[in-house]
Amino acid sequence: MPAHYDLLIRNGTCVLPWGVEATDVGVRQGRIAALGVPADATGDATIDAKGLHVLPGLIDPHVHLRDPGDKTVETIPTGTRGAVLGGLAAVFDMPNTAPSIVDAEKLAWKQDYVAQAAWCDMGLYVGGTKTNIPELARLELGKGVCAIKIFAGSSTGDLMVEDDEHLERVMRAGRRRIAYHSEDEYRLQDRKHLFKSGDPYSSHMEWRDEETAFLGTRRLMALARLTGRQAHILHVSTAQELDYLKEFRDLATCEVLVNHLTQVAPDCYERLKGFGVMNPPIRGPRHMEAAWAAINDGTVDTVGSDHAPHPRAKKLLPWPDCPAGLTGVQTIVPVMLNHVNAGRLSLTRLVDLMCAGPARVYGVLGKGRLAAGYDADFTLVDMKRQRKIEESWIVSPCGWTPFAGMEITGWPVATIVRGQPVMREDEVLGAPCGRLVRFLG
Ligand SMILES: [Zn+2]
Repeated sequence: MPAHYDLLIRNGTCVLPWGVEATDVGVRQGRIAALGVPADATGDATIDAKGLHVLPGLIDPHVHLRDPGDKTVETIPTGTRGAVLGGLAAVFDMPNTAPSIVDAEKLAWKQDYVAQAAWCDMGLYVGGTKTNIPELARLELGKGVCAIKIFAGSSTGDLMVEDDEHLERVMRAGRRRIAYHSEDEYRLQDRKHLFKSGDPYSSHMEWRDEETAFLGTRRLMALARLTGRQAHILHVSTAQELDYLKEFRDLATCEVLVNHLTQVAPDCYERLKGFGVMNPPIRGPRHMEAAWAAINDGTVDTVGSDHAPHPRAKKLLPWPDCPAGLTGVQTIVPVMLNHVNAGRLSLTRLVDLMCAGPARVYGVLGKGRLAAGYDADFTLVDMKRQRKIEESWIVSPCGWTPFAGMEITGWPVATIVRGQPVMREDEVLGAPCGRLVRFLG
């Protein structure tokens, strides 16, 4: 009897952990059952991946799906629909919603909701506050929780832990790696008076200057060293931090955003105005070059989109009334594939940054590599496909992207989540099948 599989992916070029190989993949019960499948094997379904690269399902470990919140901006169903259209098999969602995910009750609500409404798998951050520190050790072990997120600066409402005393208490509560937004809140407040309403949009990067980010990271690293607590510095935006973090590889991992690898000041502020405003800000060419150097020397562990939608009308307001944050969950994969085609990184390094990296940093179980027994998550990409990013393609209700008009070479043509094709050639398939990602407790 020839071997039989639920799904066969034939004739593709697979990016395996040990190299790039032309091999067929067999899937059974949502998991990878075989790499290398005999010619006579049969499948309930077969995908012909001739001319395509078969990647492990790509992960965006930094999105804000705004749910609960303003449904005209984004929700979990719409944001995960954008994710699978853009070639992502999993996203990790931030806790600064309305209300924020900061206690067991709200986390339970979100855990249930994901199982009913998400198109891809999800990891959930829980927000640390000054008042929930005693609960953090328990909350970080919740089902689907990827990490505790600390806003050490620049947050909205109650989600902020900016002083050393509370930060140290957070680090001494629990033991998993903590994810940080690192900007020094005191320096931000001190320098606010230097700017006024209606100043150019580029004032954003002058107010939230390099030292604001670097000082935040120095303070966090001092406390991480003192407490021995593992840290993940999200969206590192300065050459100084990338250099400094090399001294802390025993304690700290870090993320760079696709925006900081793609957009540069002053162009982004002149061209995009409010649609170029995000935190930490997009900076000048020196920092973009440093980010690429850090991609290529291995300093950077993960790449994220920091998808943070806002209503178009609010982004049209003058600075600083336009809220900070840009959409990106649907565009991160095409934009990164375009960088691969431009020779800025290899496809294997991209897989390292968007699969193995998140798995290592957050302790993901059973995802992030093409290997027998792992979840059958795949992103199939056509490295030759040319296409322009159009705003009409964006499914986030807010309806805009800062990458509109960008000509891309390299495009995701299928997304498969635990053996289930959820996107094929721009079509979302089936019903929402997302589950919570499993993590090492
Ligand atoms: Zn963010």
